[in-house]
Amino acid sequence: MQYKLTTFFLEFKTPFKIAHGTRNGTDLVFLEIVQNGIVAHGEASLPPYLPETTETVQTFIGAFFKQHSLDLTNISNSLQQLHNFQPGNFAAKACVDIALHNWFAKKDGVEVWQLLGLKNGPLPPCTFTIGMGDKESLQQKVIDGNDFSILKVKLGGENDKQIISTIREVTNKPLCVDVNQGWKDKMFALDMIHWLHDQNIIFVEQPLPKNNFDDSLWLHELSPLPLIADEAVQIPSDVVKIKDSFDGVNMKLMKCGGISEGLKLIREARKYHLKVLIGSMSESGCAISAAAQLSSLADWTDLDGPLLTKNNPFDVINYKDGRVVVM
Ligand code: MG
Repeated sequence: MQYKLTTFFLEFKTPFKIAHGTRNGTDLVFLEIVQNGIVAHGEASLPPYLPETTETVQTFIGAFFKQHSLDLTNISNSLQQLHNFQPGNFAAKACVDIALHNWFAKKDGVEVWQLLGLKNGPLPPCTFTIGMGDKESLQQKVIDGNDFSILKVKLGGENDKQIISTIREVTNKPLCVDVNQGWKDKMFALDMIHWLHDQNIIFVEQPLPKNNFDDSLWLHELSPLPLIADEAVQIPSDVVKIKDSFDGVNMKLMKCGGISEGLKLIREARKYHLKVLIGSMSESGCAISAAAQLSSLADWTDLDGPLLTKNNPFDVINYKDGRVVVM
């Protein structure tokens, strides 16, 4: 088996502002593996607020392939080797995991959802993301998201009510709210959620800091809106820790280590009757299409990344009626 790693800077169409800060793009690492004439791709996305970098991803993957000649007759063996190789490094593992699923699906002449024994429908609605911005840019993003039935609004800054009111001047569409841990005080969070309750909001994602377990539990007991865990749930074993503090989870391939772990996380969440959102970092069509293979298991997807970036090198994603098409 041959492999090649390349780094890439995925640029946003407009600078993207969330509670963590503003940036112009995201570092990616692409992996290409070639065996028996079959070429497959994987991707790691490295937003700056997470510990992994393009360097750590390349080091991990180089070390992994040096120690393991992949068993390309059996995907389970290959995945087990990968996920047991060093702790952490979830985006790096996701990169290899995505490429492996891609390779085995191509070998069998099927799509990844078929390889996993899943269906490609019914397809849940995909949210269209509205980052923070001034009045003009917020209202322009609502227009950009015209084809989508649900908009996802980033809050957790100084003027959250103003952002919602500005959006409500131009649309009555249901909104999902993502606070990105931006509300530090539980009383403030509860007041905000009560205010949002009258604003046609589907759910509030990660209102409080991820390690604030007691306050999250308190907030969940009193919240009139469903709460979704993002930063507070990374890998399958985290689900049990948050099951009483949230109503659902945001599964992202980059957080948990790829498709196989993502599938486990979703099944763990369903065991506790939690809602499932399939989310993403800012990723190219390569990783987004990998996550979309699990769409039929989700209540919503947040896989609009390719629409927000201007140099996506994997133009493989199609959207129809506000949903990601899974062929
Ligand atoms: Mg989030």
